Amino acid sequence: MTGKKMLLVVACALVDADGRVLLSQRPKGKKLAGLWEFPGGKVEPGETPEAALIRELMEELGVATKTDCLAPLTFASHSYDEFHLLMPLFVCRRFEGSARGLEGQVLKWVRPRDMRTYPMPPADEPLIPYLIDLL
Ligand code: C5P
Repeated sequence: MTGKKMLLVVACALVDADGRVLLSQRPKGKKLAGLWEFPGGKVEPGETPEAALIRELMEELGVATKTDCLAPLTFASHSYDEFHLLMPLFVCRRFEGSARGLEGQVLKWVRPRDMRTYPMPPADEPLIPYLIDLL
């Protein structure tokens, strides 16, 4: 027992027609600023991970998708100083709208094999091999 709070964050590998995945750079002023992450965010009380992801993709990127377009791939489990993060990763290939950084974040479509050149939060990095295998 560490006594740490558990934080549930849901993340998405949004995949385009060329098999590239969208990475989002955490903006200045946020924790882990400058690092590249899979889009997503905190699951609110009473929300399913899928509903949280659909909401976050719309809020952050202006992208619309549906539950049956979200395929669970794996999850990250990482202990930060302040909390333990549990983060399911979904893959989404079917969505509407072209992704824009609606919260000021820089976006980049990246091939999974090139992701290692983008510094990521420690929770996100172990997810890369799963995407390389899949795509
Ligand atoms: O995005 P937000 O700041 O709400 O996420 C809360 C925390 O979850 C971050 O400070 C970071 O430690 C972690 N996180 C992460 N990888 C993500 C999203 C969030 O490690 N893709």
